Amino acid sequence: MSLVEKVEIIQFNEDEPDYLRTFDSEDRAGSWYYSPGSVGRRGHLMVRVHTADGLTGEYAYHATAGAAALQAVDVARVLVGRDWQHRERLFRTARRMARPMHNYGLSFVDNALWDLAGKAYGASLAELLGGWRDRVPAYASTVNGDRAGSLSSSEQVVEFFGQLQQAGWRGFKMHSWHEGDKWEEARNVTRMREVLGERAELMLDPACVFDSLSDAIFVGKACQEAAFRWYEDPLRPIGVGVHQHRQLRDALDIPILQTEHVPGPEAKADFLLAGGTDLLRVDAHYDLGVTGSLTTIKFAQSLGVKSRCTAPAPSTATSSPRCRAPRCTRSPTSPRTTRTPRRTSTPAATPTTGRASARTARCRSPPVTGWA
Ligand SMILES: [Mg+2]
Repeated sequence: MSLVEKVEIIQFNEDEPDYLRTFDSEDRAGSWYYSPGSVGRRGHLMVRVHTADGLTGEYAYHATAGAAALQAVDVARVLVGRDWQHRERLFRTARRMARPMHNYGLSFVDNALWDLAGKAYGASLAELLGGWRDRVPAYASTVNGDRAGSLSSSEQVVEFFGQLQQAGWRGFKMHSWHEGDKWEEARNVTRMREVLGERAELMLDPACVFDSLSDAIFVGKACQEAAFRWYEDPLRPIGVGVHQHRQLRDALDIPILQTEHVPGPEAKADFLLAGGTDLLRVDAHYDLGVTGSLTTIKFAQSLGVKSRCTAPAPSTATSSPRCRAPRCTRSPTSPRTTRTPRRTSTPAATPTTGRASARTARCRSPPVTGWA
């Protein structure tokens, strides 16, 4: 038995050059928005679990909700003095304890415990989970288009994706403009197919910009006609209504990808079984860590449903295995796949000043992420 001796909960900010969280219009309120010359400050949270025999597990990622830190503190109180290998026990206890709010903070602690296990056993997360692949497919995904010079028009979008295609990328996902103009969105979808060719894997994630089901169906039909691989989260407010999405599915033939904002395994299972989605979005950051995500993935497997994993990757304040192409720490020489990190550990950020410096190489906008 190896007991947890101490848990550190560290909040820090990371610089986001050329981006600010904006509130200058209702359409994009709260979004990170391209702002050349500005430096935004993105809040992060890091959890470090220390054991009595000298091991440390850690996990860091952005955390816009202050409640995550408060909840992580509560979970840490349960963890200290207990066997770190009893992740399921902690999972069971912490979920009920945190029932007044979503279990977001539990994810940080659970992921840190998986990191600890990887270090203790000298194995990667993939090995711990019984996996065999050391390479997985990746696609290039943008932030939302804006009107400030970064993916501000369909012409810029296809030009940018075309550059990535020249570099070897085969899959591309666009996040819509904040205005939710169905005509603009449909034109862009058609244009992406025309320019990127019939073999490109294309996806659209409006990120919940459409107020009406009819607008969402209109753009979904454009995606369908352009043979997109999936259509994701088109509806306001955050894509959690089963009835709405069952209507959307009834109107379209293209696969619908929901549940990014439907938290946790039970709610996702209900959403799927009630007919609200074709594919499941799973995220170890929002969905109760690796432990919670595995529950969803195994459930989906048993039904023959694919789970699409999105964030997280370690904070950009750490050396990141995620592919964030133009700002990537690694050259995108092998863009079709992203190597599974050998170990679960995330090199520690250095928040000694309360602020971690971003170590990623800075490249020109627009940023592309391999997540969300
Ligand atoms: Mg998404």
